[in-house]
Amino acid sequence: MSNGIPPRLFGTNGVRGIVNSKGMDTLFAQGLGMAMGTFMKGPVMIGTDARTSNEMLKAACASGLMATGCTVHDCGVVPTPTLQYAVKMGKVGGGVVITASHNPPEFNGIKAIDSDGTEMNREDEEAIERIFHDRSFALADWTRVGRLLPNSTAIDRYVSGIVSKVDGQAIRKANLRVAVDCSNGASSLVTPKLLERLGVRYVTLNADPNGAFPGHNSEPTPENTRDLVELVRAGGFDFGFVHDGDGDRTIFIDETGRYLYGDRSLAMVANYVCSQKKGRLVVTTVGGSMCIEDAAKMAGGSVIYTKVGSPIVARVMMREGGAFGGEENGGLIFPEFQYCRDGAMAAAKILEIVAHRGKLSEVNDRIPQYCQCKKKTECPEAKKPQVLRQLEKQSKGARVDTTDGLKIYLDEGWVLLRPSGTEPIFRIYSESKSEERAEELAEEYKKRVERVVRG
Ligand code: MG
Repeated sequence: MSNGIPPRLFGTNGVRGIVNSKGMDTLFAQGLGMAMGTFMKGPVMIGTDARTSNEMLKAACASGLMATGCTVHDCGVVPTPTLQYAVKMGKVGGGVVITASHNPPEFNGIKAIDSDGTEMNREDEEAIERIFHDRSFALADWTRVGRLLPNSTAIDRYVSGIVSKVDGQAIRKANLRVAVDCSNGASSLVTPKLLERLGVRYVTLNADPNGAFPGHNSEPTPENTRDLVELVRAGGFDFGFVHDGDGDRTIFIDETGRYLYGDRSLAMVANYVCSQKKGRLVVTTVGGSMCIEDAAKMAGGSVIYTKVGSPIVARVMMREGGAFGGEENGGLIFPEFQYCRDGAMAAAKILEIVAHRGKLSEVNDRIPQYCQCKKKTECPEAKKPQVLRQLEKQSKGARVDTTDGLKIYLDEGWVLLRPSGTEPIFRIYSESKSEERAEELAEEYKKRVERVVRG
């Protein structure tokens, strides 16, 4: 490329693409395997979600890793946090997950995991990208090429790890019953085991790994959650929950059948965690709802806001000693277990909260509700800094936060303006007490952005 910067491979959640098209193929997976192996140096854990192309991409990627001398421990089909836990506990050089998370079935992806089990940070991904583009692979000689070893203990260790981090006695005593939708993803192999270990009765939906996603696509949207909501509404459940395809996110349905957006579970857990010890710190992104801050404050805690992206949230939690954190999409991070989004751990923690505090609908209703609105508008790349500067100037006197884009605090809520990193657009997010006001705020600031773009 003319500016000397090699094209980016890793997006916010690994490399993603449509299988056998636009580069997401075996040659690419093998090359990236060699680049990751060169960087990671030591033994590597590998695992996949439940997609049809997993074996193909895993074999290619593993061969690349072995070519650079890495012994590859194949954990099979596992949720992403299960693989991350195996990396952390196994003290290996790193991990690789073949997954496209919540994307449609034709997609797949490759995600690199740091040696401590966290999602790899951007600088290390850039180092891997450089090795990939320069083809500066550290190939091993014939005496040192890696071997492929099966690992069949990752799931049991992970389930035991979660059980050891929640109040199992209280959960067992509460005699709970839940409905769980595994979205035909990797959690199908984990969550039923976890519920049995915790003495929770359950009914499953889509709990067999199937890359065709016959139940519904693997993003836990309200649309994809209709069957689960209907099941919970039929009665007899303490709550329902749904995992995304690779099991790092969970969305909850209260016992009345209400779909609770991810900011609600973040807020409920924030309140619970902060109530256990005063002065605790919760970490979330600048796009996080005010209900999270309210919930933390109600229990004597406080909130730190970070740039968007779960690896960033996890790293700020490590640095600042955050007691809990996550993203508003249902990705919750429990530092006492591991510094990554964890869907099964989130379910176990909500079980604990219901066991201690009663009905999920009531726990949820104790925390204030807000409404959010999202809009976008076109903006050429070159004008993006000017838009941010102008809008900040216009907001003189107001409290602003420039952690990621420009967040402006107003009497009735906030507005966040973020330039897209990949497209010529600006995203406008707003939050307020009423839907109408959130909509008005987003529209007003969309127009302000458009005026600067035109001007
Ligand atoms: Mg995911």
